[in-house]
This record gives sequence, C-alpha cells and structure tokens, in this order.
Amino acid sequence: MDCLFCKIVNGDIPARMLYEDDQVIAFHDIAPQAPVHFLVIPKKHIATLHDASEEDRALLGHILYTAQRLAREQGCEEGFRVVMNCNALGGQTVYHIHLHVLGQRQLHWPPG
Ligand code: AMP
Ligand code: ZN
Repeated sequence: MDCLFCKIVNGDIPARMLYEDDQVIAFHDIAPQAPVHFLVIPKKHIATLHDASEEDRALLGHILYTAQRLAREQGCEEGFRVVMNCNALGGQTVYHIHLHVLGQRQLHWPPG
C-alpha cells in the first residue's frame, strides 16, 4: 500500500520516533507548528476517522491516552492541544489517521 505513514510504521521511511508499542507509534512532525508538535498514529492503516469501525474504539482511546502521556513527557503539563483532521474539508493531507499534539506555545481558539 502506498501510504506514507504505513512506511514509517514499517521502518521504510525514517522519522524522529518518540514512542512505540504494539498498537501505536509517535514521532515528531516534519513541519512543526509549535515547539512541541508530534503525531500519534495507529500501526493499523485507517485512512480517515470516518473509516474507523466499532472494533477500533479501544484503539482510538489508546491514541488519545498515549498523546497525553507523551505530552507530559515533552514538557506540556500545563496544557497542549490535540487535533485530528478528517478528509480534505477538515484539512487532512495524509490519509492514515494521526493525532496532532501541539504545545509549548500559547494556542488560540478558534485556530482560523
Ligand atoms: P494532516 O494535514 O492533518 O493530514 O497532517 C499531516 C501532517 O504530517 C503534517 O503536519 C505534516 O507536516 C506531517 N508529515 C508529513 N510527512 C511527514 C513525515 N515524513 N514525517 C513526519 N511528519 C510528516
Ligand atoms: Zn497507512
């Protein structure tokens, strides 16, 4: 499958890895939008959040839980933002779901 993030999962493309377990990996975003900006992704290929199924519910929870644990490790105990874009209208460019974790700068809402 020609999926950039599957290639990172498989080690075919390098990434600045932060974390790995049997279900997820986390790595630094290549174009950071904040001093801390990393992505948490499932090892399983799921193209968009709309493609997640009932059986993925625990996996989605694990992605979010992993994000907060790593955010704390990265010095974001005072606050951070998580974002998951869905489809082109939601700003998604890589079609393998990923949770953005942004921190270490003041973030505003709405983001614009
Ligand atoms: P999205 O627009 O939500 O699909 O986000 C895709 C994100 O993946 C962007 O923030 C990109 O900077 C990031 N990205 C693309 N290629 C790589 C890569 N090879 N390693 C790390 N992050 C990447
Ligand atoms: Zn994939």
